[in-house]
Formats: sequence, C-alpha cells, structure tokens
Amino acid sequence: MVDCGFTLKETVKRLQRLEVEPSCIDAILVTHEHQDHISGVGPLSRKYDIPVWSTRGSLLSGKCGKLNAYSIIEGFQQFAIGDLSVIPLSVPHDAREPCQYLFQAYGKQLAILTDLGSYTSEIIKALQSCHGLLLECNHDEDMLWNGPYPRSLKQRVAGPLGHMSNRQAIELLQKVFSDDLELLIASHISEQNNCPKLVQESVAESIQWPLDKVVIAEQNHGFDWVNLA
Ligand SMILES: [Zn+2]
Ligand SMILES: [Zn+2]
Repeated sequence: MVDCGFTLKETVKRLQRLEVEPSCIDAILVTHEHQDHISGVGPLSRKYDIPVWSTRGSLLSGKCGKLNAYSIIEGFQQFAIGDLSVIPLSVPHDAREPCQYLFQAYGKQLAILTDLGSYTSEIIKALQSCHGLLLECNHDEDMLWNGPYPRSLKQRVAGPLGHMSNRQAIELLQKVFSDDLELLIASHISEQNNCPKLVQESVAESIQWPLDKVVIAEQNHGFDWVNLA
C-alpha cells in the first residue's frame, strides 16, 4: 500500500470494496507527511502489524506515532519487498523529505507520482519506458486562480513545491510517453480547482488515446483494480 490518509474504518471499508484483507498487506510505503497521505498509516500499521517504509524526513515528522515495525529509506536507494523492486524518487514538494515511487516486477514498471510542484530531469529519466503511470493532475490553472482559495494558498499550490497542474502533467506525460505505456491513472485531482471530465479529455487528447483509456482516480470512490497486461 502506498500512503493512507483515511481513518481505520474508512480504509477497511475501501479495502473491502477491492476484496483485500488488511492483514494481507505486506508493507505501507509513505510518500510524505501531509495529512491526506499519512494520517491513517500509524493506526493501520499498528492494528494489523504492517511494516512501514518511509524516508527519515517523513518519519521524523512524528505523524505516524509509535510504529512497531518500520524501515528507513536511505538516500533514495532501491529496495525490494518480495518480488517487487521499489525505486524511490525524490520530488519537489513542500514536505521534509518527499518521495514517490517506481515499481518493477515481472518485466513491468509502474510509477506513482503525486504531490510535486514541478518535475525534474531525474523524474523524466525515471519514467522512460513506464508501462503504468499514476500521475497527479491537481488543478486547472484558470480554475485555481479564479477559484475560492485564499491568495497565499493559490500561490502554494501553483508554486514549484506545490502541486502539478493539468498543463504540467500533460507536459511531463508527453516527455515520457512511449508505446510501452498501457495504463494511465489521473490522480490527486482537486475538487475545488479541477474537473475530472476536463482532465480526462485533455490528457487523452494530448497522447491521442481514447477517452475511456484514461482512468480517473476519483476522491470518493477511487478506482477499481486495473491490470498491466
Ligand atoms: Zn497530497
Ligand atoms: Zn502533499
């Protein structure tokens, strides 16, 4: 599992929908200490004895509480959990030591990339020849600037350590797009400053995919299981 920002009850309910027993989860990987990613990690880990992997910075935030089992990701070094190789990616975001992930297994690569205000040449390099990509499409720039957020928050979201706009996500996607890409999930979509349909349309158009091939991670319902062929 990558991150958990829900209460224990809500997490168990969402896992049930996907027919996953919490006790079957091998590890929880933390990306950073913002509440929407970390608030449920400690309770879930303690209740079901699931080990947590995290950068030192995220762990030192103290937001996980006391953990019975944890491992520190040192220097963004690759590690393994069972058959899964995990490559941590450093990202520009306003947290202590934020970290997103590239996974490799059975000849396939899946990257999870949310919560970054800008992308770097290292990120572009890491995402070449991805088969699956879960990518932040946080806001539409016009909707953000014309929307209800206070000015300081708009500046934070739009800043280089904030969140990816649809435009930035598409720019990055076009830089890493290849024939290997078979799955794209647009995620971390703002309810206030974005519109899922707009995301789906603009992302699909940018890579000339049919609309229904772009999966939307919806805040209330998430998304169903998806497979890499
Ligand atoms: Zn977030
Ligand atoms: Zn964040």
